[in-house]
Amino acid sequence: MNKTIEHLKLNEMIKVSKNLSDIYSLLITDGEPILRKELIQIIKVFVENNNVKKITINTNGLLPEKLNDTVKIILETLPVQLSISINLDGLPKTHDELRNTKGAFLKVSKCVDYLKKIRISYPVLNYYIVTTVNNRNLKELEELSKYVDKFFGCLHLFELIRSPSKSCLPENYRNEFNPRDEELLIDDNKLNEVFSIIFNIIRSRSIGSWQNALRQASILTGVEYAIRSVKNKKLKFKCQAGFKIGGIYPAGEVFLCELMKSEDNLRDINYRFEEIWKSKKSDNMRKIIKQCCCSNSCFK
Ligand code: SF4
Repeated sequence: MNKTIEHLKLNEMIKVSKNLSDIYSLLITDGEPILRKELIQIIKVFVENNNVKKITINTNGLLPEKLNDTVKIILETLPVQLSISINLDGLPKTHDELRNTKGAFLKVSKCVDYLKKIRISYPVLNYYIVTTVNNRNLKELEELSKYVDKFFGCLHLFELIRSPSKSCLPENYRNEFNPRDEELLIDDNKLNEVFSIIFNIIRSRSIGSWQNALRQASILTGVEYAIRSVKNKKLKFKCQAGFKIGGIYPAGEVFLCELMKSEDNLRDINYRFEEIWKSKKSDNMRKIIKQCCCSNSCFK
């Protein structure tokens, strides 16, 4: 989370929540949600006011002890299915360099250890590793997947690195959230290589139960869909951004898609999310979204 902006405070979150109807699933992401002091209270507000049953927290895994405490409290006090998505960008050296933190890989490992233990008492807890595939880690994905299988023993998903510049959004609709290092972006002519590396990983994992084979097949289908979308500059199915999925940035701007510019802030309209969501401006953005494409699987 960016420290230079003034985040919505808890009392403001309560106002947002009271103005919203039921929410099927809440994803808490952007920077490091675990750092947010009132995280548990915020979640509680949405569970109580909006009947949220499914919560996903994305974490960079740099705060294992804090994650351990937070997950335990959520599971002990709230009736929700909780998923923890941990980012892992490569083998130890690559991950530490990409995260710019010595020991970052070991901390992810510690997070997994904690979550494994919690899951024994709380089977509703789900946790998995997400690797953002980029130019730096492409060649080590197979080795990384073996490491994850051997030492973490949890689901391992792949996302193509994304950037507004790689989407089909018109330039004037794109936000500035490009990766810090443009070199990490994967050229379209490398996409076949990406697919073949992930195909090999999934094939080697598709053993054991039919449930596992099915799960692996669905991961591969997701990757194939993302790659096809980028190559063909077209989505086969309509993107759900702005239709079933939308979001709020920490300082209160509402967004339909996380790669699109968002200018309207909840603070300016007395925290009435629907006023922005149902506005003419948002409807115009939806027209753009209907023609759009990118590799982001969260919005599909
Ligand atoms: S998430 Fe949807 S709207 Fe956003 S860039 Fe991707 S395809 Fe376009």
